[in-house]
Amino acid sequence: MTKVLVVEDTPLNMELILEILKSHGIEADKAEDGEEAIRKTEKIVYDIIFMDIALPGIDGAEATKIIRTRPEYKDVPVIALTAFAMKGDKEKLIAGGFDDYIAKPIDVSEFIKQIEKYSAE
Ligand SMILES: [Mg+2]
Repeated sequence: MTKVLVVEDTPLNMELILEILKSHGIEADKAEDGEEAIRKTEKIVYDIIFMDIALPGIDGAEATKIIRTRPEYKDVPVIALTAFAMKGDKEKLIAGGFDDYIAKPIDVSEFIKQIEKYSAE
């Protein structure tokens, strides 16, 4: 069973993501900010993390950096959820420790492709 963590502070986005995952038989854990994501990843090693970039407190990029410092999270796919996807941003996100990104507003079929790609590994 794929263990997924969704980090997202906007309730509507969270609801949509959880709904899409559920339709794929995936029950995900949720975190509403970076601090909560860090706490949850201390207890559980997830198979995939979907990480919003714009979060209250420490942002998604900073939270990902902290999570990545742990050896058990070295190779876990972390997918950025970002409204700022522009040319060159993907390279920046990948240099910042993300494996990929999903642009917001979320395109459902694009999101499903990402789930399938990263949960197959
Ligand atoms: Mg946000």
